[in-house]
This record gives sequence, C-alpha cells and structure tokens, in this order.
Amino acid sequence: MRKKIPVGVLGATGMVGQKYVELLTNHPWFEVVYVAASPSSAGAKYGNALSDRSQMQTILPKEPSDLIIKDVSDVKSAERKCRLVFSAFEIGDKETTKKLEEEYAAAGIPVFSNSSAHRWTEDVPMIIPEINPSHLDIISAQRKNRGWKEGFIIVKPNCSLQSYLAPVHALNQASFPVKKIVVTTMQAVSGAGYPGVPSLDMIDNVVPFINGEEDKTEEEPLKVLGEIKRNKIVLRNNLSISAHCNRVPVTNGHMACVSLAFGKRKPSCEQILDIWHKFSGEPQKLKLPFAPEQPIIYRKEENRPQPKKDRDVDKGMAVVIGRLRPCNVLDCKFVALSHNTVRGAAGGGILNAELALSRGLLKN
Ligand code: NAP
Repeated sequence: MRKKIPVGVLGATGMVGQKYVELLTNHPWFEVVYVAASPSSAGAKYGNALSDRSQMQTILPKEPSDLIIKDVSDVKSAERKCRLVFSAFEIGDKETTKKLEEEYAAAGIPVFSNSSAHRWTEDVPMIIPEINPSHLDIISAQRKNRGWKEGFIIVKPNCSLQSYLAPVHALNQASFPVKKIVVTTMQAVSGAGYPGVPSLDMIDNVVPFINGEEDKTEEEPLKVLGEIKRNKIVLRNNLSISAHCNRVPVTNGHMACVSLAFGKRKPSCEQILDIWHKFSGEPQKLKLPFAPEQPIIYRKEENRPQPKKDRDVDKGMAVVIGRLRPCNVLDCKFVALSHNTVRGAAGGGILNAELALSRGLLKN
C-alpha cells in the first residue's frame, strides 16, 4: 500500500474547503495534515472554528478537528507540512489570489485551485479529467516559463458548466460537433459560499443574476474544449454559447436546461443516448478513486433529474441527465444536473489531483 501524500486545504473553513476535508477523510492516496483560512480564523483549532458554521454531513474526525488553522498567506509553514494544496479561499481580489497561488507553486507545492483567478492564465490548464486530461501536458511549459521545479497550478472550471460540458464533449468526440448551446442554469445557494445569499432574498424567490457567472458559463467551455498546439492551449472555435444563470432556493446541485445545435451531421435522440451511455474517460480507464463509474447517467423518467434525488449519485461525481427531446428552435434539448460543491468544486479538484498523480506529475 502506498504511503498517503500529506495535503493542505486553503480556505478550509469555507463551503468548498469543508467539503474537501470531508471528502478526503479516508481517501486512499491523500491525507489532510494542514488547514488554512483568513487571518481571523488563523490560530484556532479547526473543529472549534467550524462549530457554528459547519456544513458537513459527516462527523469531523479527530485528526483534522485538532489541526491549528494557519493563515493562507503563510506559505513557509505550508512548505514544511504538505506536498500539495487544494486552494478554495476567497479573497475577492483576483491579483492577490493569483500571486498567493504562484507563491505556493514557486515553493514547490502543486496547487489544485477552485478559484477563477488563474483560469485564463495562458499556461494554466483548466481541467475536467473526463474531457481534457491531455491539457496537463502544458505543465512542463508552465514550469519552464516560471522556473518552477516541482510546483505547478491546475485549475478547474466553474461549477455552472459541469453538468452539460461532458455530455457536449461526448457528442463532439462521436463526430457530432456541437455548434451552439443555449443554457439556463438553476444554481444552488451553496454555490455562493457561506453564509451566501441572505435567507430573506432566497426563500420563496429566484434571483435572475449571479455576478460573473454568465460570462464564465459562456467562455470557460472554449478553453476546456480547446487543444494544445505548440505549447499553447488554443480555444475551441465554431462554438457559441448563450447563458442565463439563476440562483434558486436549493441547497446543493446546479441544474441546467440546455438546447444544442449541431453542424451538418445531426444525431437522433437514440444516437445521443447511446453516445452518453457509452461515454467514459481517462479517470474511468485508470480507475481513479474519485472517478464515477459512469460519468453520464441518463434517467428515463419524465420528471428527472431533480437536485434532491439525483445530486449524490456515485459520490456526487456523476452528471445526471433527463428529458432529452427534439428542440423546435435548435436541434435537441435536455436537463442536466451536477453537484456543485462535489463535482463542481472539491470532488473535481480531488479528481484532478488523482489524475496528476497517475500521470507522474506529483512526487509519490
Ligand atoms: P466561502 O464559503 O465564502 O469560503 C471562503 C474561504 O476563504 C474561507 O475559508 C475564508 O476563511 C477564506 N478567506 C476569506 N477571506 C480571506 C482572506 N483575506 N485571506 C485568506 N482566506 C480568506 O467560499 P466557497 O464557496 O467555499 O468558495 C471558495 C472558492 O471556491 C471561491 O473561489 C469560489 O469561487 C470557488 N468555488 C465555489 C463553489 C461552490 O459551490 N461554493 C464551486 C466552485 C468554485 P475565514 O473562514 O477565515 O473567513
């Protein structure tokens, strides 16, 4: 049995950070030995700091509970303890976040980030392991550009697009390239972090605006679906996306109503279902611990997927789809769901780290 890799969680007191600590309990390869948050939490015991803001659904084991929270900006102290960090802190200032993540990488600590700060940095790959594992090849250029020996930065894309991007990629791969996407998301309140949207603005309500979310939903897929050419990630062309993003009173699970237009080759609904059913990627081939067995699950019932009933399928890592039918305006339409703090955040970050380890990017 391999010795577990000691890891740190930056932003461990937040919605996503707590999910990392929870999901990494009993992980076969990684062990949380370090937690960090803002200066106001630093110095407290992790268990005590969470007492009135815990969003965990399991009991926090003693080891992480007893850890003393460090300040995220104290890179030196992380250097002594952990061999990689999962970054889920929210400072609100992109440049500061970028610099801090770079400091970790420069200190030889690989960073698996949930933040949007580095998503558009040219040599930083934005990974969904079932879609673009080959983008990890850019890491050697990233290290060379910056003179980093062991550190690097890998980001994952926004949670709003996780439910429909693998299904779109599966169709592209099967030679039915998607040319247009119109998507309306219904995003859970946990997506806004803790404490998030005030309850009086959320109960009995839908908020038709989430700051920055529509741009991310329309633009980030182009990088994820892009390809590496001459050590650069070239964005996918011939794909346009139009998004409406709404905050809805659901705790976890982002839903999306999606319409697609194809090029000249248009698959039937039966062909699409067959492509989705057979779809699997590198995480499934490598049997990574956090990979869902079947990344895309189709529910035949006419009233599924539903966040409450379907978000936790296969550890919260599978995308659940339903209601595939012809569209009167584009070619086909369907409803898709993914767990925003698992597949869309901590679970996605863990899968990225497992993939990086399997590809030899991390010291074992
Ligand atoms: P959150 O619940 O608000 O947590 C924020 C974390 O950042 C806390 O640990 C907080 O520590 C820390 N923090 C705040 N100010 C800081 C400072 N000045 N210096 C260092 N740390 C500071 O937010 P979240 O939802 O977990 O989101 C974390 C990141 O993940 C964000 O970049 C977000 O965009 C991204 N993300 C979130 C989701 C989701 O579903 N929630 C999905 C995908 C990506 P204290 O407790 O000490 O204040």
